[in-house]
Amino acid sequence: MSLSGKTAVITGSNSGIGLGVARELARAGADVVLNSFTDREEDHALAQEIAEETGTNARYIKADMSKGEECRALIEQAGACDILINNAGIQFVSPIQEFPAEKWEAIIAINLSSAYHTTAAALPVMRAAGWGRVINIASAHGLTASPYKSAYVAAKHGVVGMTKVVALETAEEPITANAVCPGYVLTPLVEAQIPDTMKEYGMDRETVIRDVMLARQPSKEFATVEQMGGTCVFLCSDAAAQITGTTISVDGGWTAL
Ligand code: NAD
Repeated sequence: MSLSGKTAVITGSNSGIGLGVARELARAGADVVLNSFTDREEDHALAQEIAEETGTNARYIKADMSKGEECRALIEQAGACDILINNAGIQFVSPIQEFPAEKWEAIIAINLSSAYHTTAAALPVMRAAGWGRVINIASAHGLTASPYKSAYVAAKHGVVGMTKVVALETAEEPITANAVCPGYVLTPLVEAQIPDTMKEYGMDRETVIRDVMLARQPSKEFATVEQMGGTCVFLCSDAAAQITGTTISVDGGWTAL
């Protein structure tokens, strides 16, 4: 399958899942727009590296996903948006009575409201092009909960709900909207937590991964960013044209428990 001629905008894509999804979409032929709020030389270099590897047009555009007007400007600056991947996200963990209000606001803004702004800006572009895919990177926490993650769980459930609304509003058009719900994915952020957790629990790496990090992931294996990208490529294929308004879990069985 080729996504040649399509442009994909991936929010929060200078690392982790967003970068993995961008790579796989470019490998499938799409032009990709990478994004973060940092605008460092390395960010532009990542786009260059993808362009060289895949022969597609890969660019980097700075936009802060905590700001509605920058979310909308990202779509405008991209110039085209056939595939929108709402991926930018942050996390903060605390009991709700101590949860700092500014962290709550930031998580809701970056993990949920940004997807509202980008989708609102992208749908007219997709309609004009006569084809579109909205893919929201939610989480197993869009379907289940864990203690101390009130803002994150609220935002991810919100993303799943908004996905269904967008699917209904585009149901008679060649546009689909779905949410991908990963369990634990091995990203640099997750990898970085392993040494501290080993120290905290006095466990070796394998035990920390199996019994602490993947305690709720029955497969006892992390998902990979390549698998996340492959799932998004599938959702862009003709085979997925009637898949809309739903969630696809990539969680090693987490939500089957
Ligand atoms: P990550 O920290 O590697 O990536 C987060 C991305 O968001 C980065 O590119 C960062 O630059 C970007 N970002 C953060 N704040 C931003 C802002 N204000 N404006 C623009 N970009 C911003 O983490 P990740 O694990 O790759 O997570 C990506 C998404 O996947 C998130 O939505 C996260 O909730 C979700 N997710 C991750 C896991 C996992 O196990 N890694 C599991 C479930 C869901």
